[in-house]
Amino acid sequence: MSRSVIVVGGGIMGCACAWELARHGYSVVVFERSVPGAEASSAAAGILGASVEHGEQGPLARLARESRRLYPDFVRKLVRQTGIDPEFRECGVLEVDFRRRAALGRSSKRSRSALRVLDGRALRRLEPALSERLVSGVLHAGDARVNPRLLLRALHIAASRDGVVFRTGAYVRRVVVEGERAVGIALDDGEVVRARHVVVAAGSWTTLVEGTGLPAGAVIPARGQIVEIETPEPLLGRVVFGRRAYLVPRDDGRVLVGSTLEFVGYRREVTAGAVRDLLDAALRLVPALASAEFRSTWSSFRPYTKSERPLIGASDVPGLVLATGHYRNGILLAPATAAIVGAVVRGVRSPIPLSAFRL
Ligand SMILES: Cc1cc2nc3c(=O)[nH]c(=O)nc-3n(C[C@H](O)[C@H](O)[C@H](O)COP(=O)(O)OP(=O)(O)OC[C@H]3O[C@@H](n4cnc5c(N)ncnc54)[C@H](O)[C@@H]3O)c2cc1C
Repeated sequence: MSRSVIVVGGGIMGCACAWELARHGYSVVVFERSVPGAEASSAAAGILGASVEHGEQGPLARLARESRRLYPDFVRKLVRQTGIDPEFRECGVLEVDFRRRAALGRSSKRSRSALRVLDGRALRRLEPALSERLVSGVLHAGDARVNPRLLLRALHIAASRDGVVFRTGAYVRRVVVEGERAVGIALDDGEVVRARHVVVAAGSWTTLVEGTGLPAGAVIPARGQIVEIETPEPLLGRVVFGRRAYLVPRDDGRVLVGSTLEFVGYRREVTAGAVRDLLDAALRLVPALASAEFRSTWSSFRPYTKSERPLIGASDVPGLVLATGHYRNGILLAPATAAIVGAVVRGVRSPIPLSAFRL
């Protein structure tokens, strides 16, 4: 009981936290209502955009940078443990614009000075398939990409090999609280499982788990749709970040075109309008994609918080730890989140100050 942990949710947060804790000698059980990686984590595009998304300033930017710093080692350990290559590529993200004023996204003043503004010719030297009409851009050379589905498969296997038990098809109804402390969870069928610590990593469904102390609305679903197309030869090496869409290449020639941002509850549709808009934007960025083969579409839910910052660390209920609300950057933020949750459960100092990541 003393070194036992229950993790609610088997997305990237649940799997990464469980793996981290198992490697520190904890006995961990993950309860996942579906299968590991069933939701947002497998739907993600896999951009590790610490610079393009966050720039330099603020607690989230620091968390993003720290997680990006941890990524190479995180992936190395996964590959060593499983043999699965999750296609972690330090390819950079090319932010592009049809207007002469370069798109500098969320970059702060300080980071802008470190980023070189490129003209159209320089852009096409880096990525020859880009449209002639793109006239300015910025290379975020430190940003990267990964294939989230392969990453989740590897994480699930690595965690299992290090002793994590996965109970799939197990719906957690509530956190069991006794004497104001979390002591376990209760499943849908009434079964109660006890543990010293409970980590809630239920993504967009976090507030549907009773007993977390979080108000309804603390984490809500933000739907994102993606279109997948494929060219016989890879057309792009880098992630391309436009104003209306981003393009994420995979090693085998597939390209993910993303994404919408919609607050429509848990409705899973892929809509005709979104597919049209995403493809239209993609073909404007890279005209040669017009002859790409159409492969697939999907949608899923980013766990959104009003502050757009995740909720990580000890909650108001002793024994209950949160790892949720990672919104549009959960793939990027997984290694740092796992390190923080590992530290909080072990009772050692968090590698990152946590005051910004509470409700
Ligand atoms: C279209 C799209 C594109 C994205 N692109 C990127 C990107 O390029 N880069 C990036 O860093 N991030 C990206 N994200 C964001 C990223 O996917 C999320 O932030 C991240 O996956 C959240 O991980 P999670 O483990 O918290 O949630 P999820 O992956 O949703 O996992 C939560 C898990 O909890 C389970 N669960 C829920 N309730 C219960 C319960 N009561 N009992 C048992 N199990 C339960 C669910 O079944 C699910 O498997 C994208 C998201 C979307 C939707």
